[in-house]
Amino acid sequence: MNTPGIQTQPSCADSTDRDSLSVEEARGRIEALIRPVAGFEKVAIRSALGRILTENIVSNIDVPSHTNSAMDGYALAGSELPESDVKAFEVVGTAWAGRPYEDSIGAGECVRIMTGASMPRGSDTVVMQEQVEQDGGAVRIGTGHRPGQNVREAGEDLSVGEVAIPKGKRITPAELGLLASLGMAELKISRRLRVAFFSTGDELRSIGESLREGDVYDSNRYTLYGMLTRLGVEIIDMGVVPDTREALREGFRDAARNADVVITTGGVSVGEADFVKEILAELGEVGFWKIAIKPGRPLAFGKVLDGVFFGLPGNPVAVMVTFYQFVQPALRHMMGETHIRPARFKAPSGTRLNKRAGRTEFVRAHLGTDESGQMAVHKTGFQGSGILSSMSRADCFIVLPPECAGVEPGEQVDVEVFEGMV
Ligand code: AMP
Ligand code: MG
Repeated sequence: MNTPGIQTQPSCADSTDRDSLSVEEARGRIEALIRPVAGFEKVAIRSALGRILTENIVSNIDVPSHTNSAMDGYALAGSELPESDVKAFEVVGTAWAGRPYEDSIGAGECVRIMTGASMPRGSDTVVMQEQVEQDGGAVRIGTGHRPGQNVREAGEDLSVGEVAIPKGKRITPAELGLLASLGMAELKISRRLRVAFFSTGDELRSIGESLREGDVYDSNRYTLYGMLTRLGVEIIDMGVVPDTREALREGFRDAARNADVVITTGGVSVGEADFVKEILAELGEVGFWKIAIKPGRPLAFGKVLDGVFFGLPGNPVAVMVTFYQFVQPALRHMMGETHIRPARFKAPSGTRLNKRAGRTEFVRAHLGTDESGQMAVHKTGFQGSGILSSMSRADCFIVLPPECAGVEPGEQVDVEVFEGMV
């Protein structure tokens, strides 16, 4: 019986629910089903930017390859430095970066040396040019110097046989430089993951179409495009698929045949899910979960044909939250990446945050400073799951754990910064 005031179905307004999964349980179930994809490409180092390394890079040379000066100055034997007073050293030549001084340095001698020049034989110490006094063909050096100072040792950055970059690392500008400093022209990266996605919903219009009463423009395909492109996957955008049995069956089939991963948005909430469930049961094995989070409660996950399937909610912010929390770490794992979670740290909340215990909440927020220059995190406004504008003003999530029942101004909260989300 369905009497007004009696709730017969779980709803998004429920704070907890016996059969809800925690964020960790949902992540655990996803991890149990996915594997890194096989297959790699060998590419020139510049083309590897943003891609995932599939083998350890072992250094085949010392970097730097020779012991050299860290300063412009004078190279000499540290044992000759004066212990008191001032001592004159005869300048017997010059060592340039790339043009070494070929002779040895003798007692009472030094060599004018430039940054990056090999240390001449007989020298192990550099005195900065600003700390000497010119005296004809000699320089006068006082006390206060340390034998071995201002010298970069061969191999101090990387030594032969050392793992310079571990397998599973995402290649950033620093790795490009490191690879170049090893003289490497090519490296092996994991093949691009293929991800197909489509939106469901008869109310959705594409850009260029006009809106009728009740219609909305499809924004999820654009946020997905952005989040997936940043991850470096190959994208197959299948558009809007009408809410009919035949169209959806074809959509899922096509997507799974052509991609490693299929992502849909919309159509997994209670009421809509029933007939999507039937189609997915024909094509694979998919679980329909309620996750104890806000926003983003419904999530479908499993296999469609040979593809990994994520059915995200329809609401635009719920899409982004579930993508960042569940889909992105999974895709990164499938790409062979080892570091797959964004950094989390604590910061004081600039405002009061209302919350009911029982679920994890992801609050859109801005990380900034208060009047005294201390770090503080402020929520960016109305937090409805369809409100993309507060997402656009945000640069982080405040993550409130299930047991939290509200936050007072100044209280420490967990923060996850978007920048770290790739
Ligand atoms: P659903 O999960 O399909 O019930 O959708 C929940 C809400 O999200 C509804 O208000 C939809 O109109 C909206 N929505 C679903 N898909 C999209 C989309 N691709 N772009 C923008 N809004 C959407
Ligand atoms: Mg819908």
